[in-house]
Amino acid sequence: MTTVYLDNNATTRVVPEVLEVMLPYFSELYGNPSSMHTFGGQVGIKIREAREQVAALLGASPDEIIFTSCGTESDNTAIRSALAAHPDRKHIVTSRVEHPAIKALCAHLAESGYRVTELPVDSEGRLNMEAFEQCLTPDTAIVSLMWANNETGVVFPVERVAEIAHSHGILFHTDAVQAVGKIPIDMRQNTIDMLSLSGHKLHAPKGIGVFYLRRGTRFSPFMIGGHQERERRGGTENTPSIIGLGKACELAARHMEEEDSRVRQLRDKLENELLARIPRARVNGDRVNRLPNTTNISFEFVEGEAILLMLDRYGICASSGSACTSGSLQPSHVLRAMGVPFTMAHGSIRFSLSIENTEADVDLVIETLPGIIAQLREMSPFWQTEGQSCAASS
Ligand code: PLP
Repeated sequence: MTTVYLDNNATTRVVPEVLEVMLPYFSELYGNPSSMHTFGGQVGIKIREAREQVAALLGASPDEIIFTSCGTESDNTAIRSALAAHPDRKHIVTSRVEHPAIKALCAHLAESGYRVTELPVDSEGRLNMEAFEQCLTPDTAIVSLMWANNETGVVFPVERVAEIAHSHGILFHTDAVQAVGKIPIDMRQNTIDMLSLSGHKLHAPKGIGVFYLRRGTRFSPFMIGGHQERERRGGTENTPSIIGLGKACELAARHMEEEDSRVRQLRDKLENELLARIPRARVNGDRVNRLPNTTNISFEFVEGEAILLMLDRYGICASSGSACTSGSLQPSHVLRAMGVPFTMAHGSIRFSLSIENTEADVDLVIETLPGIIAQLREMSPFWQTEGQSCAASS
């Protein structure tokens, strides 16, 4: 059975071009880039090249790129650095739909005396801008909002938010882990101070991330150690992964148009066909301001976990809620923040595509999922009583 992988917001495949550039740096060119000898020095040159490739994708300057171990580390670095830059300020602004890399960190900081505002979103997952402007105070140290949501793909107006934060003298960070490589980002066109990205969401390996720090922004390192990354992130560089990430960024820039056209068309076909064939189904999230690869659909009166298990029999990989929360039977915090009714939130499935997906992948889901949902609903007492009559009248 072949695997139909539609879970690219959870992680992506390391593509052959990326793997190929990485391989020599495990057991042939394994020198330490900080070494004085030529053997190590040549690795340092490749790291410099990778930094330039990442910077090019973001429209950044290479010295604004700091390699980290993952998106989570980059997010932690941003918040902790902003708090260290303003030790007198105790207020953090974020949203209710952030990834646990921000959400759990803020909950942790709240326990040590910080005040955290989690901004609400509307039923489409859009940020409440009024609440944002109203919550800023002279005590606010940082605003951190995701560029794109991992579960719904909804895109926040982070460039506008950064300007408002700055007009109050407040630093702005964005978790762009899901946005980078999927939508154009040009740091020359905005004023965002800090940004996080993660390699494994754009066909580079797991365990490599980037923290973007705008030149001139006050900074305090999170990982303190050696002189690496110009003393902004201690620890011997993950050389193969850094080089792989550089290549992945080069490829992402090249594939951006395809992501926006072919991948978007596949996603739209999948979404429209499922909505047409399955009663009592709906898309979660703003369908306009959304990543081109993501759809989050709720099927009422069924459990997301049951759908996933049935899809798995056909080799189809998707996700219910975010990858990081699956395994827990709580409906996702993102859908709850959007006020998605309980019976809908429980039956939500996220399909996330990449440039590696084909029409045949999408067609398999379109052919199999309606039958799966019908089968599961037959077993549901709620469907027998409530759902069927509603479906008939809708
Ligand atoms: N932020 C978002 C929006 C994510 O989707 C993820 C991963 O799912 C992360 C942060 C964490 O990234 P990493 O897995 O590299 O720590």
